[in-house]
Amino acid sequence: MTMDPMSTIEKHESQVRSYVRSFPTVFEKARGSWMYDVDGNAYLDFFAGASVINYGHNHPELKKVLLEYLQGDNITHSLDMASVARAQFLDTFHRVILEPRGMDYKVQFPGPTGTNAVESALKIARKVTGREKIMSFTSAFHGMTLGSLSVTGNAFKRQGAGLPLTHSDSMPYCNYFGPEHDTIEYIERMLEDSGSGMDLPAAAIVETVQAEGGVNVAEWDWLQGLERLCRKYDMLLIVDDIQTGNGRCGKFFSFEEAGIKPDIITVSKSLSGYGLPLSLSLVKPEYDIWEPGEHNGTFRGFNPAMVTAGKAMELFWSDDRLENDIARRTRMMENFLKGLAAKYPEAQGSQRGRGMMQAIEFENEELAGKISQVAFRHKLIIETAGPSDQVLKLLPPLTTDDADLQKGLDIIEKSLVIAMQELGISKQAASE
Ligand SMILES: *Cc1c(COP(=O)(O)O)cnc(C)c1O
Repeated sequence: MTMDPMSTIEKHESQVRSYVRSFPTVFEKARGSWMYDVDGNAYLDFFAGASVINYGHNHPELKKVLLEYLQGDNITHSLDMASVARAQFLDTFHRVILEPRGMDYKVQFPGPTGTNAVESALKIARKVTGREKIMSFTSAFHGMTLGSLSVTGNAFKRQGAGLPLTHSDSMPYCNYFGPEHDTIEYIERMLEDSGSGMDLPAAAIVETVQAEGGVNVAEWDWLQGLERLCRKYDMLLIVDDIQTGNGRCGKFFSFEEAGIKPDIITVSKSLSGYGLPLSLSLVKPEYDIWEPGEHNGTFRGFNPAMVTAGKAMELFWSDDRLENDIARRTRMMENFLKGLAAKYPEAQGSQRGRGMMQAIEFENEELAGKISQVAFRHKLIIETAGPSDQVLKLLPPLTTDDADLQKGLDIIEKSLVIAMQELGISKQAASE
């Protein structure tokens, strides 16, 4: 290499770059739950590209179908013209995912990214109902384009818009005021009272677990309550399953155990299974009232991503092996975090999460960030979440074998001890 990669990136790339600052090394290769930098260090990945890499990096069987597809001069780009890959993906997704769950949805390819799916969901909800407002929730995250930002909670991200973000109303999420207050009751009061000052929204958009917002978990009965309100007030229910879906929270869709039937579902992140951009809006057939081309986008036909996505559905979702592995690994992670909170009371940590999206929140707002830094020195990639980054968020690939999972959990414990010492929280001796 004639240039130094990191200084080249620092010299030429915009200040907006962020993860490179948290994990300051130059990555070159990756396989399964491991990432490798140019100096030959191996990092255990407990971030999985924000849950894009649920099936591990460069899964050999996904890579095989991708290489065969490319090698055969099969079509890569086709806008939304018909292609064999597109038809095969639609057939597989219907057969493996939707049909066995009794789900009847039209599949829209809204553009390659998650925020494209959210924008299309908001547009269709407005078109269906003729109303303007969208109900969103405190600490929500739905993406960075203006419509998605308008239903996102984080003040720092919102202010980046540089203009007023309107046509949305933020309501308190599950347990926002603590477990003794039912926020569904509050929202219902606002909706039914003609003096509340709140316009009837076109839709409510919700994450079943607020991933970026700090791993806040909506209880099943709260989600059922929200669905009931949507039916009662004739609003569409949009579940943003971009980060929580694809098995992250235990099942393919994160809301399956709640028994709710969203009107629109957004899916992206791990959908292609390979880190290739692919995004869907699933729309109940009666709401699929688009005019042809009314919402479009150049990259709605990225065939290689459809090829790996179809293969990922066959590999991981045509039987219950992965689901069983996720359940077992979830218990490992939950028990570890509960044990950690009990073993180090001075850390004032509390566990929460669903499936393999697990987290521990600390009273001291610096602790999670410090643990992430120390863990990186010990070759574990782990991120923080929440409005003050006070939550340590565990997102290992779902396919991480139990031994590697334990290895990562051990690094977290060691890093907690060192981080507390560095922050002067504990006097306990720790060694690097
Ligand atoms: C990541 C994410 C998005 C946005 O996806 P992009 O591909 O970054 O546009 C939207 N909603 C949720 C819940 C997400 O986690």
